[in-house]
Amino acid sequence: MIKQQTIQNSVVTVGVGLHTGQKVKLTLKPAPQNHGIVFCRTDLSTPMKIQVSPNIVQDTKLCSAIGTAEFKIATVEHLMSALSALGIDNILIEVNGAELPIMDGSSISFIYLIKSAGIEEQIAPKQFVFIKEAIVVTDGDKVAKFEPYPGFMIDFTIDFPHPAIKDEDSHVQIDFFKDSYIQEISRARTFGFMHEVEFLRANGLARGGSLDNAIVLDERKIINEDGLRFSGEFVRHKVLDAIGDLYLLGKPIIGKFTAYKSGHELNNRLLRQLVEEKNKWEIKTLDTNDVATANLAEEYSKMNTELNETAEILEE
Ligand SMILES: [Zn+2]
Repeated sequence: MIKQQTIQNSVVTVGVGLHTGQKVKLTLKPAPQNHGIVFCRTDLSTPMKIQVSPNIVQDTKLCSAIGTAEFKIATVEHLMSALSALGIDNILIEVNGAELPIMDGSSISFIYLIKSAGIEEQIAPKQFVFIKEAIVVTDGDKVAKFEPYPGFMIDFTIDFPHPAIKDEDSHVQIDFFKDSYIQEISRARTFGFMHEVEFLRANGLARGGSLDNAIVLDERKIINEDGLRFSGEFVRHKVLDAIGDLYLLGKPIIGKFTAYKSGHELNNRLLRQLVEEKNKWEIKTLDTNDVATANLAEEYSKMNTELNETAEILEE
């Protein structure tokens, strides 16, 4: 039986928010089984807690922000992406500000942080959302879709008419039961266009943004001196974001996610559509002793073990 996981110890990191530019402290704490992923704003006079679910996403203009009318936590998607990749089901995430730290603009720092806390298997079985029938949302020519698939496959296509974003680097398809999130995705950084950065700054946003935590493009080229970390870094970052956005469901998905020019808003609309269309999916567990799910259970454990080993290699 594939079991739920939490972290072994509390860990702390400090960084700046991409948009607010404020220094924030992020603390990850272990949580009991069936607790889920819960965020807590500790800077408020009455600390407020909120459990992740598709309906707590408030604002998707620049990042995925969660919260209520009273409080908000922005840019949760990179940490959520790392939690999804490492299979963390139960955790308490405390932050003393309105935005999570941006770190280097990717999710690798969060992977290190979670790994340094240690991962602990719990007793309760892990619950997966199995997609049984296609679920689709569109916005003009943008598409986001779930379909049945034995694994967790992401097929992502971006379309930015820009000389530095080549067509051959605009599409990626990865089955995360087979390929490594840490190697293929975790180091892909946030990106932005110079004209947008100027507009955002004028509106009091992107204050914490710099070439240390984002790839910035002017009209013709990439401004960062060292260029890209790997080919297709742009589309790979969109995959990193999508994994984080989809994990706001609170449970891992067994299925295929296909996106054409999708972003935080459409990813969240797809999750809300899934919640509506209850007949198109079911909650299942994976068990090596159950004929129906044995293969998937084996693939999942193998992937999980390899991910943990890769993270250790990277740390050395
Ligand atoms: Zn992002």
